[in-house]
Amino acid sequence: MSRPPVDLHTHSTASDGGLSPTELVQAAAARGVRCLALTDHDTCAGVAEARAAAQEAGIQLVSGIELSSVWEGRGVHVVGLDIDIDHPAIKDAEAHQRTAREIRAEEIAVRLEKRGAAGVMPLARKHAGPALVGRPHFARALVELGVVESEGEAFKRYLGAGKVGDIRAHWPEMATVIRWIKDGGGIAVLAHPGKYDLSWTKLRRLVSEFVTAGGEAIEVSYGGENPERIRELGRMANKQQLLASVGSDYHRPEYHWTDLGKFPPLPEPVTGVWERWI
Ligand code: MN
Ligand code: MN
Ligand code: MN
Repeated sequence: MSRPPVDLHTHSTASDGGLSPTELVQAAAARGVRCLALTDHDTCAGVAEARAAAQEAGIQLVSGIELSSVWEGRGVHVVGLDIDIDHPAIKDAEAHQRTAREIRAEEIAVRLEKRGAAGVMPLARKHAGPALVGRPHFARALVELGVVESEGEAFKRYLGAGKVGDIRAHWPEMATVIRWIKDGGGIAVLAHPGKYDLSWTKLRRLVSEFVTAGGEAIEVSYGGENPERIRELGRMANKQQLLASVGSDYHRPEYHWTDLGKFPPLPEPVTGVWERWI
């Protein structure tokens, strides 16, 4: 097994990505992606546009979303694939997450202002455009204000896990977001399991609770992950009888460490969730 011509985790300007849904689809098609999932943070607002563009480009489009949640107090992301974006459960999810994001953004702004970032909120809103304000928008605002020199530094000092701007209080429990996805006809996928800074023991527990709650797949390969961990995640998927998913977690062209359709190759034979679409 190596690398299937799919990308099941991507972002557009509907959340914190740099390309419009149409541009994203065209760029993916140009890179040889045959099946693309648009998985914006907590919204399906870009899916209809992406679907039309995919039809035009002759590639498969999977309706998706990436929902923020908490598990044992930690932030955990769950991707929903092949959801019915008009289903009431998905509408509920979007409405809940919108409110959570708005409250969170205001709280992050207050905290950052206390640390010298006066006027950060209007700048973050400007970067978000019509999308909901997220941490990457704050990161760009902090660079613009001269509080930090790079977005990387913004996350390291202010916005990353455990820092002042990392507010998880308003996210629903992991089991709740899995339920929304399943009720909405989709497949719940545990996103980037290696990025939660958990021991293997704790990650195994997370995965087993994810399965108990109705989760059906985990990402085994994604942008920026190392081969050793990918091998282990492949084994974990097989052992738990979970489908495997893959994706770049693409955000924008400037993020040179990842590109559409790019993720480390799969060393283990796994059952790919993409097999139902290509
Ligand atoms: Mn993002
Ligand atoms: Mn994520
Ligand atoms: Mn993502």
